[in-house]
Amino acid sequence: MRRRGFFIPLFIAVLCLFGACTEEKKNTNEAVDASKSDKKVNIIATTAMIGDAVENIVGDWAEVKFLMGPGVDPHLYKATQGDLKKLQNADVIFYNGMYLEGKMEDVLERLAKKKPVQAITDNVPANKKLSLDEDGKAVTDPHIWFDVELWKSGVKTITNKLMDLYPDKRKEMSAKYDKYTAQLDELHKKVTKEIASIPEDQRVLITSHDAFGYFQQAYGMEVKALQGLSTVTEFGLKDITDLVNFISEKKIKSIFIESSVASKPMEAIVQGCKKKNHEVKIGGVLYSDAMGEYGTKEGTYLGMVEHNLRTIVNALK
Ligand SMILES: [Zn+2]
Repeated sequence: MRRRGFFIPLFIAVLCLFGACTEEKKNTNEAVDASKSDKKVNIIATTAMIGDAVENIVGDWAEVKFLMGPGVDPHLYKATQGDLKKLQNADVIFYNGMYLEGKMEDVLERLAKKKPVQAITDNVPANKKLSLDEDGKAVTDPHIWFDVELWKSGVKTITNKLMDLYPDKRKEMSAKYDKYTAQLDELHKKVTKEIASIPEDQRVLITSHDAFGYFQQAYGMEVKALQGLSTVTEFGLKDITDLVNFISEKKIKSIFIESSVASKPMEAIVQGCKKKNHEVKIGGVLYSDAMGEYGTKEGTYLGMVEHNLRTIVNALK
């Protein structure tokens, strides 16, 4: 009998863990006055890019964390036990959507029944969305951060969601949004100008996987990749041969490695070109689906885009 007192609370705690205690969370979309509580608002983002965008909008009343660090491929990423705990404790969750976090969809869907879970791509204009045929299936390209203007729409979606949830912080967030998006506007102009400075016959971006479609759409650079939109897709010898032929015929100077995708296949392409008497170089490492180390310049969205721009222009000009 003495033990019962221990087991009942334990039983309830276990039930709560599996989502039976949803009463408190029922009205999670209701506005909250963040200033009335000392506890920081706990915001979790899936990718570091999204975390960085949120950090630029909120003040020190919020704590922002992200799940996927440098070198992590979001297409393949599965939530760990530690992630699940973080997500369960979060007040708000932001994710990319459009199936970028393909292996986390179920988890995010379940959490969305209990708390605000927002896809930052929800307000991308329909006429800007890129859709591709992949293995006979129509897939929307999730990599919107390669068009700085589209990324701005993601920042707006984040800001609007947080303003709805924390109306007392509206003024502060509005000022931060204006300041940050002015920087994004500057960056967009810079990328447009510098990509246009690459000789036209070299304005081709060859990478490991098809992440740069929005870069092509926004900045007029032809994009080719070994793998499809998601790194889940496989590639074969024919894909390598086709790319080798393309690079050799067009006499492309440089191709690029991505920080979150294995580099070996791109090295095979360099060798393949050599056999066709065309010297192509690895032009550097681009941050495609993951940013640099947190706390460094490349660990921010602005720094990541600058790094990619510098690497591309230096290698192809
Ligand atoms: Zn990708």
